[in-house]
Order: sequence, then C-alpha cells, then structure tokens
Amino acid sequence: METTAATSEASTAQPAPPESPVEIVKSVCRSCHGGCGVNLHVQDGRLVKVEGDRASPLNHGRLCPIGTSTIDLVYHPDRLKYPLRRTGPRGGGQWERISWDEALGEIARRLQAIKDEHGAEAIAMGTGTGRHHIRWVSRFGHALGTPNWCEPGFAQCFHPRINTMLQTFGEFPVNDFTSGTKPACILYWGHNPLNSGPDGETRFVVRESLVGKPRTIVVDPRRTQLAAEADIWLQLRPGTDDALALAMLHVVIEEKLYDEAFVREWTHGFEQLAERVRERTPEWAEPITWVSADKIRAAARLYAATRPSMMEWGCAIEHTPNCIQTVRAISMLPALTGNVDVPGGWVFGMKGLGRFPSLIENLSPEMNAKRLGADRFKMLGGEGADLPAAHIPTLVQAMRTGKPYPVKAFMVFGNNTLTTFGNAKEAHEGLMNLDLLVVADLFMTPTAELADIVLPAASWPELDQLAGLPTIAANVVLAQRRAVRVGECKSDEEIFVELARKMNLPVGTEDVDVVLQDLLARGGSGVNLQELREKGFHDMPMRFHKYKDKGFKTPTGKIELYSTRLEAMGYDPLPYYEEPPESPLATPEVAQDFPLVLTSGARIPFFFNSEHRQIRALRRAYPNPIMELHPQTAAAHGIKHGDWVWIETLRGKIQQKAKVTEGIDPRVVHVEHGWWFPEDKSPDHGVWRSNANVLTRNGPPYDPAMGTYHLRGLLCRIARVEPGEG
Ligand code: SF4
Repeated sequence: METTAATSEASTAQPAPPESPVEIVKSVCRSCHGGCGVNLHVQDGRLVKVEGDRASPLNHGRLCPIGTSTIDLVYHPDRLKYPLRRTGPRGGGQWERISWDEALGEIARRLQAIKDEHGAEAIAMGTGTGRHHIRWVSRFGHALGTPNWCEPGFAQCFHPRINTMLQTFGEFPVNDFTSGTKPACILYWGHNPLNSGPDGETRFVVRESLVGKPRTIVVDPRRTQLAAEADIWLQLRPGTDDALALAMLHVVIEEKLYDEAFVREWTHGFEQLAERVRERTPEWAEPITWVSADKIRAAARLYAATRPSMMEWGCAIEHTPNCIQTVRAISMLPALTGNVDVPGGWVFGMKGLGRFPSLIENLSPEMNAKRLGADRFKMLGGEGADLPAAHIPTLVQAMRTGKPYPVKAFMVFGNNTLTTFGNAKEAHEGLMNLDLLVVADLFMTPTAELADIVLPAASWPELDQLAGLPTIAANVVLAQRRAVRVGECKSDEEIFVELARKMNLPVGTEDVDVVLQDLLARGGSGVNLQELREKGFHDMPMRFHKYKDKGFKTPTGKIELYSTRLEAMGYDPLPYYEEPPESPLATPEVAQDFPLVLTSGARIPFFFNSEHRQIRALRRAYPNPIMELHPQTAAAHGIKHGDWVWIETLRGKIQQKAKVTEGIDPRVVHVEHGWWFPEDKSPDHGVWRSNANVLTRNGPPYDPAMGTYHLRGLLCRIARVEPGEG
C-alpha cells in the first residue's frame, strides 16, 4: 500500500484542518468479467478516486465508462445496505429491515425444512455472469447437497466454448495479446470486443493490436465499427454461423490452404472432417447464410494465408440449438491453419490459480444424477461438463409444474433473472410459484422485488478475491482488494460461509481467505497472496508450442477434429449444419405473420448486461433501449428514426426506440438485451416494457449436448407505437 497526501484548496480565512492521508489500494475492476488494474484512493474509509493502473498488462491505465463510474456505483443512494424481509404479497413492494442474524437464521430454517420434506434437489442456486462469486454459488449448493445450480451462460454464453474446447483442444484457447507479437490477421466472429463483455477489458488490447494494421475479417449481421473498417465483412443471417464455418472449412481443405505438417502431426480426424464438408461449398452456404459464395471464399483464403492469425469469437455463436457443433466448426479454422499455441495467434492460458474447490464430491452419484437436465445434456450437466450445471428451461419447468420433481427454493446471487432467462414470462411464473426466493444483489431489481428475503451484496471495491483469467488473458493472475465498506453489505462468499456455519454443514465453512490462499498456492505461479495483493497482478512468462512436450490434453493427444469424447457420449463427433428451429426456412408458416429475423445481444459500452442502468452518468450517455432496422424496413412500416417501435414474437411484445441504419439487412432487426428501468418505482421497474427476453424461446429443440435454447435468429414483426399506446 502507498500513502499520499490529498491535494487541498487553500483558505485565507482560517487554516484548513489537516487532511487525512489518502491510502492507495491496488485492485482490479470487476464491473464486467474483466480485470482492469486499478488504484483505489481511500480517504477516511471512503473511496474518493478510482484510476486505472498504468502497470496493468490488461488496461495500461485505461478504464471504460463503466469502470470510470465506480464511485457512483459504490455510493449510489439506491444501494441495498441491509437485509430486508418481504411483508406483503410477493412482488407487492412491501419490506421490513431485519438483521443479518435474523435473515440468515430464517433462510437456514426454511432451507432445512424444504430439504427435509422434498430433498436437497428441491433447492436451486442461481447466479449471473461469471465474476468473483460464481464458483462460490455452486460450492454452497454442493455443500448443502443440491446438484441444481445454474447460470445463464452455462448453456448459452461462453461456457459452451469452454466445454467444447476442453473436449476438442484439451484446454481453452485465448488470443495472445500480451507477448508482443502482433497478429497479421484477426477474424472477429460474432464479437465486437471494442464494446463488449464478456471480455470488456480486451477492448484495450484489441485497440493496441489494430495499430499494427492487421488484415481483418468480421462476421456480424450488423455493421459495427470493426465491420465498417474490415477487409472483409460477412453480413450473415443471424443463427447461420454453422453453415458459414463449414463452407469456410470446405475452402481451406479443398484448396489445400491448411498447414499440412501441423494437421498431419497434431490433429485427429482430418479425413473424416474433409469428407463431412465436401458438399458444404460456398454455393451451398450462400442461400442459407445470405453471404455471397465469393465473399466466403475470399474470407477463408485471407484467414488461411495470413499468419499469425487470431480468432476473436463471441457468444453470438452460442445462441442456437446447434451451439456445440457451431463452436467446433469455427474452432477448426485456427486448428487447420496452425494458428494454435503460437505468438500472435491462439494460446492456452497459464492458469495461475489451482482448480477451485467446488465441493462437488460432496454429492453422491445418485444426487449428481438428479441434476435437472443431466440425463440429456451431458456437456452441461454430466460427464462432459467442466463444472456441471442444471438446465435452465428444465429448472423453470420444475418450479412451474413440479416436474420432473418440484423445486421449491431458489437462491439467486447477482442475477436479474427476469432479464437473463429466455422466455421471461415463464421464468416469472416459476419464481412466483416458489416457497422461498432469496436474492442477493447491489440494488432492488425486478427479480429481487419477488423475493422473500433480499440480502445486500458488496460491490467489487468492497471485497477480497482472486481472478485468474486463463480464459481472457493467458498469463495473468489478479488480486481484488477490499478498500471500503458500505452499510451492512457482505460479499457473497462471506454470506455462503456464514450460512454454511449456521446450517452446521459439514463442508464449506472455512474463511474466504483460506480458500484463496490455497487456490493461489496450487496454481504454481510462485507468488503468495500478500505479494499479489500488494502488486495487484502477477504476470507469468509465456511459453508457446507447449503441446510439443506432452501433446494436447485430449484422449488422442491431438486436436480432435473428430471428437472421440463426443462420440463416447453418444453425440456426433463431427460438426454439422442445422437450421435454427424458428426461421424463414424452418417455419415458413410462422414467417408469414412474423417475417423479420430478430437478433439481439450486441453490447452497449455503458452497461454490462442488465447492470448499471441506475448510474446517472451512464444513463445520460445512453438513456433508451435502441432497436436497429434498415431504412427500407422502416419505410415499409411507417417508422421514423427515434420512433418507439413494437417488436413482437410468438412469445410476446416489447418496445424499443428506432435507430434507422443501413448497417443492417432489410430482413433483420436487432434489439438490445438487459433493459429494465430502475427509475420506474413500481415493483416491476418496467421490466416488461423493453426486455428482449420477453421475445426469446426457451422450449425445445435444445442443443443435444449442451441444452442450449434458441435466442438469436428468431422470427418477429414490428409496428410503430402509436400515441397513447404502451
Ligand atoms: S472493461 Fe470491465 S474491468 Fe475494465 S474498466 Fe470496464 S468494466 Fe472495469
């Protein structure tokens, strides 16, 4: 820790009282998944300044608009500061303040009663996007004895990539932004890292890599800044990434653009893959993807011929029921072209933290088998999963209908479920049906308003944690530090430990720091917790071509183009194309009434998913939800730029404000996700007005391995909101 004197204004009347010293605490921002290094300036126990840490290898002193608003987040007047108990009907907005002892005592009693009557599996745990607490949520569930924990991303966002890469490559590849070798080509697939989570902090290193003027290819239905500046922009129909990837693989293989020596020695199943994509020509893909065959060929040739090449991919590829095979097909482009574990290409994380003690061993095989969806989706909830999770549509069904067995309690940590679960109306029905709903959050969200007990959670400058980012930046481990306290807020980790002790659970009761020390010690980084906390981060030396020592960590020791693990689980070992279940091609009868293709999920640089809409500066910069449509589409519907527009699917309708742009196909509209209105003081805080998940599907068919449901490439119709409507 360093100490400096704060600057002060001189006073001529009286000598100013001496100012308290300012303490500078090194930490990392966790307002998104990222880990931008920060210096937290603390005076008299209060955060007075947040600045980027110039020494951090991830952000070199820079912060995005969200990180810059940290003080507004921490001291926001609407922060939850003490536990609350509901006193009126569920969702009625009536609360009383209670002590932590009362809150945890009541939760413990009610959980125990449900466990005794219905079994531990009747209690589900939920969390939001992966940050400090995510693994602690499942850990508490396992300590309690339930296999049912969930996070929306596990089937829909990022974790399919993790699980698929573990099966295919043995480890998760990320881009080498830190070794100093600049990429000659970057393929951005369904990802706009200049704006977006989950890897918010990569916006800075991506900008740095662009200074070297790499060739760029962008796969995106929208003309983002990256797309506008790309050498090749592939403006595909949303939800057809699998067809595009197969056609690009066809070109790479048929034209022998692959790295022959690497493919021969380090991949498994090349011949079978070549056979699988033989008919998948660019001409075959053109009517499916709406991308011309010439452009598909040009993109495949450019990517394969320009090395080293990076692949930056986003969750857009994980939003259809053909999620796993889409991810696999795309990942084969770097594999075939030898852009794996090389400087300036894809590399594998160096970890730095040991495996998190998930306590899953506390569950018996019988209890593991009860995980909702585990019998069908083995890469989500069974033997193919890195950290097995419950299938959300099956969980919601269990809450609503009691089938296949009743779920009676849901404990939600950092997740605004009504905005993050597909088909929000069904999720609402499930939550309303529970015996016990507990929500821990920073603010009273529409989901927290439905709870029995609400717990005030600590924000990131109020808690100690570690972050290893093998999934984002390959060689850095980070320490997050508690710099201040607000009200009676506690970190989720502290809540779990206290609750485990209160319930006399046999495991999960050690202090948070004990777990953190152990994690770091087992990571082999050579740095201890104290040293790490003083510096804020520790970067480890990069090594490349590590597979040459012991092979890839797969059953064959090679990158498995033909997946022996998928085959053993009963799934197709090779990638294939599947039309999204609701689309102009799959359901032309629906398309008659809902003729436009709906996409969603583009990130807004001022918010992280459903968060931050109560931060005044951020909201001033971005006050309204925006839907994008082409001028022709707008004209055909009598819609002008700035009009409010109804967007309707078979599930329901919402309204967002029109942005008329030529950067989107006339057959496609885009809506923003995560919207609710904290300034709306009714208990639902306007969650039904503009919430994209009112429109999405959560029904079958699902990805056979991952249980992924259909969020992108759905069918919709639009109409102008008339005066007096909505
Ligand atoms: S990119 Fe993420 S980690 Fe970095 S400052 Fe912004 S919110 Fe914080």
